[in-house]
Amino acid sequence: MMDEIIISGLKIFAWHGVYEEERDKGQNFIVNATLLLDTSKAGDSDSLDDSVDYGKVCLYINDFMRVSRFQTLEALANNLARKIMVKFPLTQSIKLEIQKPEAPIPLPFDTVSVKIERSWHKAYIATGSNMGESEELIKNALENLDADENCRVLRSSKMYRSRAYGGVEQEDFFNSVFCMETLYSPIELLTRLQTEEREAGRERLVKWGPRTLDLDILYYDDIILERDHLRIPHLDMSNRDFVLLPLSEIAPYKRHPILGLTTLEMLARVKETYVLTLKEEE
Ligand code: AMP
Repeated sequence: MMDEIIISGLKIFAWHGVYEEERDKGQNFIVNATLLLDTSKAGDSDSLDDSVDYGKVCLYINDFMRVSRFQTLEALANNLARKIMVKFPLTQSIKLEIQKPEAPIPLPFDTVSVKIERSWHKAYIATGSNMGESEELIKNALENLDADENCRVLRSSKMYRSRAYGGVEQEDFFNSVFCMETLYSPIELLTRLQTEEREAGRERLVKWGPRTLDLDILYYDDIILERDHLRIPHLDMSNRDFVLLPLSEIAPYKRHPILGLTTLEMLARVKETYVLTLKEEE
């Protein structure tokens, strides 16, 4: 259970709405926000530096809502919720409700509102490269992601060398795994990683062939997602020693949500049944 900091009934005059009149004249909005975080450090130290200052959050919400212009409460809430979590990084999740008590509805009503919940999510990403300055490309990708305000890279494994697999004659691979927190949804994260791959100049000439940079989502919290273009957990991870060995460095006891096995257990299984592709570390 997370602790909560609760802001209720914050009144803000702003200019959001689908109708031109709403964007011209403006109207009152009421904001309710619950920030979920661990307050035990501040509970101990009695210092505001160890928590989130609700006064600053209120002022930030006011500034954000008065400067921006959105047509829908949905977009306003989505953008505001993410920004609050970026600006007040101790916030792990937020529940945000924005009410529009003066919405243009020709009937008597108390209020209408949109209420959303957003969180930082933990994702594990596998990297691979066997073209160009591989180590540099992987390092750059991590730096770029960490510089994106919607991502925070937490930990990265060492770099491993592995023989290419799939039968195409090519250079050895460099592989690593890193762990990040992100505000992106799984699909948004895939798109974001693909941008990074493109920027590294990835060319797909041969299936299973050389690539400058490959970024695969292994886990996203403990979700199980099965879409045509995105499978989480990554479909092949449990068979790949070059994924499991680096992963065992940063998450040895994390359990695969479908197989129910820890990283170390999956690694032991791979070692029994597969010829190790990993080369000695250099
Ligand atoms: P690859 O050749 O391994 O880089 O495969 C790339 C394709 O795999 C992409 O077009 C993705 O849509 C798809 N894919 C499915 N699941 C995942 C995942 N968990 N992470 C990254 N790509 C994935």
